Parts: sequence; C-alpha cells; structure tokens
Amino acid sequence: MEIGIIGAGITGIGAAWHLARKGHRVTLYEKEGGIGGLARAMLLDGQYVERYYHFIMAADTYLLEFIRAMGVEERLNWVETETQFFANGRMYRFTSPLDLLRFGAIGPVDRLRLIGTMLYLTKFAGSWKKMEDRLACRFLPAWGGRRTWDIVFRPMLDMKFGDLTNEMSMAWMWARSRMVKQYREKGVARERRAWVKGSLKVLLEAAEAWFEGHGVTVKRHQPAERILLEDGRAVGVCDDGGEVRRFDRILFCAPSPELRRMLPEAEGPYFDRIHGQQYYGVTCVVMALSEPLSPRFWTYVSDPRVPFVGAIDYASFTQYEGHTGQNVIYIPHYSLPACAPYTTDDETLVAAYARALQIVFPRFDASQIREVRVMRNPNSSIVCAGRYSERIPGIRTPIPSLYFANLSQIYPQDRGLSVGLKLAGYAVEALESDRDVAMDFTPY
Ligand SMILES: Cc1cc2nc3c(=O)[nH]c(=O)nc-3n(C[C@H](O)[C@H](O)[C@H](O)COP(=O)(O)OP(=O)(O)OC[C@H]3O[C@@H](n4cnc5c(N)ncnc54)[C@H](O)[C@@H]3O)c2cc1C
Repeated sequence: MEIGIIGAGITGIGAAWHLARKGHRVTLYEKEGGIGGLARAMLLDGQYVERYYHFIMAADTYLLEFIRAMGVEERLNWVETETQFFANGRMYRFTSPLDLLRFGAIGPVDRLRLIGTMLYLTKFAGSWKKMEDRLACRFLPAWGGRRTWDIVFRPMLDMKFGDLTNEMSMAWMWARSRMVKQYREKGVARERRAWVKGSLKVLLEAAEAWFEGHGVTVKRHQPAERILLEDGRAVGVCDDGGEVRRFDRILFCAPSPELRRMLPEAEGPYFDRIHGQQYYGVTCVVMALSEPLSPRFWTYVSDPRVPFVGAIDYASFTQYEGHTGQNVIYIPHYSLPACAPYTTDDETLVAAYARALQIVFPRFDASQIREVRVMRNPNSSIVCAGRYSERIPGIRTPIPSLYFANLSQIYPQDRGLSVGLKLAGYAVEALESDRDVAMDFTPY
C-alpha cells in the first residue's frame, strides 16, 4: 500500500519503520527541518544534546529494540544515577528505600506513612482503573500525611502537571510507582539510565539512513496542511506548498490540535474527544556550565523561594571514554501554554532560575553559565485529568482510510519514546487490518 504519515516524531518514525519492513511505500511529512519531534537534539556549547532531557531505562524495551535495529546499541552509555531532594534548606539523598527511611525533611511517622503509601500503590492497590476515581490531592495527603504531601508528593506532581495538579487522578501515580518497582524487580539494585553517546541525534540519523535504504520518503519542512476526502474517505495529503499526493491509507501522528486545522469537517463523538484534548506546554531552561552543578542526576526541589521543582544534570551521561563530559543541566516546567512560565520572556526566566539555583546549589554562580537556551513546546503531554481512560480516541477513525496515533492515547503510563514505539506497533496493526485494536499501556 501507499501510505502517508503526518508527523515524524517517534510515533511516526516507528510506524514508518514497521510499515516499510512489511513492504509498504511510505511518505513521512514533517513540519520541522528534521525528524524526531520532542526528541530532537541541538548544538549547545559545541556538543549535541537533546532539546529536552531524555534518558533510557532498562524497561524501555521497544526503544531498545529500535536502537538495536538501527545499529547504534554500542552507543549506549549506561550509568548508575542517583536522585536527591532539596527541602528545608538542605539536600537529602533520595534514591534507595534506605534513603527514604533517613529522609529528614519529614518526621519519622510521616516517613513510615510515605513508605506505606508507596508499598500500597506498588503491591496492594490492584488495578489502576479503581485509582482513577480518586484525586491525588485527596488520596496522597490522607495516606502519606499532610507534610509528606506538601514536601514530597505535591512538588513531584507539580513538576509534571503544573497548574492542574489538583485535578489529577491517582491513576498516573499508580503507573509511576509500578514503573519504579519494575526497574528494581529487574535486578537493578540502583537506578540505571542510559544516554546515546552524542545524543539522540545519532539514533535519528541512523533512522534517516535506514529510511533512505528502504524507500521511505521523508518530506522535511513540509507540514501537511490538509487531509483530502473523496466520498467521505481520506485519499490524500496536501502540503504547505500546495502539492497533493494520493495515498491508500493516512496515519496522523502529529499533536491533536493539528487535526482540526487539517480536517475542519471532522465532526461527531469520535472527533469531539480529540478536539476536547488539552495539552501541557513545556518550558525547559537548558544551561551548559563551566563547573559541575551536582554529583547526582536528578534533584527534586521543594522550596517556596525556588520557582522550579526539579533539575536534571547530564554530566554523568556525557562522560565516557575519550570525553571529559559537559555540565549540561535541564530545568523543566510543565504548564498550560497560556500560563507562566511558558509565557515568561527568556531573559526574566533565566535570571530568576539563576538566582534560585544559587539557593539549591550554593557553589553555583551565574558566571559559570557558558551558554543557555530556553526551549518551549506547546504540546509536550496531554492533560489526563479525571476519568481520562473514557475519553481516549481509538486508532481507527470513523473516516475510512484515516488513522490516528499520538501521545494522547498513552495512558495510564506516562508518555515516552518506548511507549511511542509501542503505540506505533498498534497503529500499524489497525491500519493494515482496518480493525479497531485494543491498546494496553499498563506498566507490566
Ligand atoms: C521535557 C521532556 C522530557 C522527556 N523526557 C523523556 C525521557 O527521558 N524518556 C522518554 O522516553 N521520553 C521522554 N519524553 C517524551 C518523549 O519525548 C515523547 O513521548 C515523544 O517524543 C512523543 O513522540 P510523538 O511522536 O508522539 O510526538 P512529537 O515528538 O511531538 O512529534 C510530533 C511531530 O509532528 C510534527 N508535526 C506537527 N504538525 C505537523 C504538520 N502539520 N505536518 C507535519 N508534521 C507535523 C512535529 O513537528 C513533530 O515532529 C520527554 C518529553 C519532554 C517534553
């Protein structure tokens, strides 16, 4: 079949890979100058790094399979990483269960309640569907205690859900704790994360080379503008230059708001789900520093003086044989795109973050910043508040020959590259069989 795919993020890439292996001819439309979407890299202080921090875990089986297939497995740099937590004006280790027992930011009773809550979620809570009816902002303070909520859970959820933390159900937290448990059950005593030496650019370039060798046409800088219908069936794509190409099947893998623009005539209950979706934007301040910031990879921050709740340090990733490494830090913040910090200008944001970094890392000084970039994307993750499972659109749309696959369908698991590739597998199954396919994104 002749297949058009709209959007060359990991989902579109994965679908193109599967379809080309099955002998289909694929055209991949991408609005930007390169493939990869949120996983693209940029040049910072003379070295390529991801625009948004990306790490790989042992449980990312679909991604690891893709990395192997693209022949870049030997580029994986596996490192033992640690987490720390800044609260009450001091830093605490926060990696192992023993660290939790010693976590002095909350009292001993609250610590036990924190551990009890995590234990309940990972071992006894049953299905995530039951947890979907419970609001995290009620459940977690009730189980873990008010102080544990204020100091630990609320900042963690704020980092992910920003202004909408109070509307989030417990399903996400359930999935998150299962993921953490899964890493440990696989025999990994400590946290292990991997980075592709040279950034995901290496993987994306390998994928482009693979596409070239397997007849996949990548149309860079060519946003799809319209999906063409004939007798109610999707038959072609018109790009921004007005060029029309006809396809047997079309797979939409771009952020949901693009669909309304491309297909304004799409109406009815199925499309209402898609049109009703809301996205979080991400604002990510990325700094290359002349000095190391922290010996640990992930720092949670719970301090009213600090306008961010987390910082990620790439130093351990970028150090490997022959490379001294680069002190790159990421400070992400998720919010609705209409709200701060998405709307805050770069200069104000960087100045505020630099002042706050000094509170968390006293040895930090703004003169250590060699280069800084503020990255923003309005469609970084979906707002999955309330009973989101009841609002997930299927892959097969009511319009014949049109299929839909993007991160809005990944639930309750958090969106990610590996699950994006899993979704691509489901999408190909639905497209080839022209049948509805049940998706399961429950962490195993
Ligand atoms: C801050 C941050 C950190 C993350 N960290 C991790 C991590 O550590 N590990 C992990 O696995 N995942 C991580 N992720 C998640 C991961 O990046 C995403 O889940 C994944 O990249 C989503 O892929 P996608 O294909 O669904 O969407 P996208 O990457 O958004 O791709 C959509 C593509 O569609 C294109 N497009 C849009 N409109 C059009 C149009 N009209 N025509 C043609 N093309 C169009 C876009 O340019 C884009 O390339 C992170 C994400 C963020 C934001």
